[in-house]
Amino acid sequence: MSASNMKTITVVGSGLIGRSWAMVFISGGYSVKIYDNQSGQAANAITEIKKQLGELEEAHMLRGELTATQQLALLSSYDDLAQALEGAFFVQECVFEKLEVKQSVFQDIERLVGKDVILSSSTSCLVPSDVFSKVQNRSRCIVSHPVNPPYYVKLVELVPHPETAGPVMDSTRTLMTKVGQVPVCLKKEIDGFALNRVQAAIIAESWRLVQDGIISVKDIDLVMSEGLGMRYAFIGPMETMHLNAPEGLEDYMKRYGVGIQRVLKSFGPVPDFFGKEAKGITNEMSELIPSDQQHLTDRKERRDRLLMNLAKLKKDN
Ligand code: NAD
Repeated sequence: MSASNMKTITVVGSGLIGRSWAMVFISGGYSVKIYDNQSGQAANAITEIKKQLGELEEAHMLRGELTATQQLALLSSYDDLAQALEGAFFVQECVFEKLEVKQSVFQDIERLVGKDVILSSSTSCLVPSDVFSKVQNRSRCIVSHPVNPPYYVKLVELVPHPETAGPVMDSTRTLMTKVGQVPVCLKKEIDGFALNRVQAAIIAESWRLVQDGIISVKDIDLVMSEGLGMRYAFIGPMETMHLNAPEGLEDYMKRYGVGIQRVLKSFGPVPDFFGKEAKGITNEMSELIPSDQQHLTDRKERRDRLLMNLAKLKKDN
């Protein structure tokens, strides 16, 4: 496909993630066609995006070189999949996280697009070999897993199907970089990809420490937000170790490696997140932040404001 044809992206599914992807792609100057199988939903998504773009422009947080009006002009909505796919070189699927729904959506898409069109899934928890098992030509399939909200959290995990062609990985990485995301490439598929595996390890040990009566819910969150997280927003665990010993990573492991291994051996089994003991933890959380809609919405808005400031800080540094 020539570069002049690589201007249009179709986003399939116009929920939270579909809308965010659309905003990311238009910020990079791509035309985006949004499709949803719920009639009128894709049009609603554009109304919502228009509001968000205006707010971002006012806050000087709009991404890309174009104004909000210019970006909005790149968007169109469709209730018909064939029309939505016409002219696209890249398809970003963002439908429900249900294997059979994704499999059937990709079967439908494959019937309607040329063989060069890249088929990309936003799945968080399904491996590419399952998501694309019903696609005939799997060499053009890839998972591009974003982190919510992708407009501020730029990481995108690119996970290949065992049959994904090298150039498909390369083109997807180039596209993501061009629109300002930060792609990381997994060399092969694995359950949970990288981000959710690391996250699961953190969740498991945090849960165990609370469940075993070592620390409260409030304080384990502070361990991350006021401790580890302060560094990890800017440098990862490998670089953190490298910088924390006079002669770098090897030196760090000489000093602390045996201690880390000892601690790792003391980790407990996979916690029970659902039983009677878990109820104590969920109740403790609800006492800190009540689980009603208003409190949760307020906290999410605060989180997004802080993420927006953090994104700005990272951009300026
Ligand atoms: P959502 O429920 O907000 O939106 C899903 C949208 O897909 C809805 O608008 C729905 O009408 C539409 N849809 C459902 N079936 C469809 C079909 N057959 N054809 C077209 N549209 C269809 O979900 P979401 O949170 O946006 O998640 C979408 C995907 O992104 C999921 O795979 C999810 O795992 C992944 N993801 C979500 C997050 C997150 O934090 N929400 C983060 C990373 C990845």
